[in-house]
Amino acid sequence: MSLLIRNGRVIDPASSVDAVQDVLVVDGRIERVGAGIQAPGGVQILDATGKVVCPGFIDIHVHLREPGYEYKETVATGTRAAAAGGFTAVCCMANTSPVNDNGSITEYILDRARTEGSGVRVYPIGAVTRGLEGKELAELAELRDAGCVAFSDDGRCVMNADLYRRAMEYTLPFGAPVISHAEDHALARGGVMNEGVVSTELGLPGIPAAAEDVMVARDVLLAELTGAHVHIAHLSTAGAVRIVREAKARGVRVTAEVTPHHLILTEEAVRNWDGNTRMAPPLRTRRDAEAVLEGLADGTIDCIATDHAPHATSEKEGEFDRAANGIVGLETAVALLLDRLVRPGLLPLPTLVARLSRDPARLLSLPGGSLAPGAPADVTILDPEATATIDPKAFRSKSRNTPFAGWSLTGGPWKTIVAGTLVTA
Ligand SMILES: [Zn+2]
Repeated sequence: MSLLIRNGRVIDPASSVDAVQDVLVVDGRIERVGAGIQAPGGVQILDATGKVVCPGFIDIHVHLREPGYEYKETVATGTRAAAAGGFTAVCCMANTSPVNDNGSITEYILDRARTEGSGVRVYPIGAVTRGLEGKELAELAELRDAGCVAFSDDGRCVMNADLYRRAMEYTLPFGAPVISHAEDHALARGGVMNEGVVSTELGLPGIPAAAEDVMVARDVLLAELTGAHVHIAHLSTAGAVRIVREAKARGVRVTAEVTPHHLILTEEAVRNWDGNTRMAPPLRTRRDAEAVLEGLADGTIDCIATDHAPHATSEKEGEFDRAANGIVGLETAVALLLDRLVRPGLLPLPTLVARLSRDPARLLSLPGGSLAPGAPADVTILDPEATATIDPKAFRSKSRNTPFAGWSLTGGPWKTIVAGTLVTA
């Protein structure tokens, strides 16, 4: 079982490699990276001339919806969407039904991944509180033992600061972060888009940036108090970037992610009344989008995560203020980021690769994120010249809720390899 990926531009930020080289994979692990590697007998050869060979991309914020919402997505369809989108690993959020707040649900998800999955690695994230109700702690130790790599009530904010503090203290020895959906319920209540000029013009109730900023500030202070690692999910405001940047400078253990849609779209997109522009946190202003991009470039924001949130078409149609929150992201993220950020020179390609591979792996202490010898042979290969128009009907995901339908993009994922095996359909 060996594979030689020949003649691609290898970008491995963890090893400071950016050069045209070959990658030899033996028995599911990286054996060697270098120029002119001789093919051993029986090796499968993949010609990657003109392509970009990267450590496998890891999406740490995905909703696979199983168990309970199989009409939106399943582990089978979600991991196929991940493979098609160039991701070799995904972390799945706990807001399933039943909620992933005890070890038996974690084991169920991992079993589905083993038996029905595409081969893409699945790492469950356990709930912080029982039933995501924000009242009492979930079975945190049991979740950790069953395989959860982090803890989050994502979809809801844990409003009780004392309970959140205790969650941080309890999980601190596990070495797994608490992931914060930072949104003050009272400030956000009733809002359906960003609060500002556009919401006023459209006559829609707004959610102020402060609904996010106050919670990011609280969580930074709780991380400082407890010494725990807090990770901010889908950071979307200039204020939150400033708070995280200042906290990191003081040595607080806070990390953050940003979604492709908060980098690429603004609240202006809501003017077309498409339910697919409704999300939590909402699309923000141009100034916010510029600030999160700057934070991503300078490392204030550690990684890009899609917040892949599948919903049935019926849940996104009709009145804007009744549409469900969120969009699918696994199959559009890489092409959007390459076309809209890398091609215009807004973000260097090696930085993008680092924020999708090395940095999420480090953040959650996951295997992968590197092409160093001995690392798992999880590899994402990009085709920088591929052109495609986003067609939701062609998605492997069960859901079609994207605001990017019809966008023509240059650059995208070419092959997805997990443990030395091609998983691209
Ligand atoms: Zn969230």
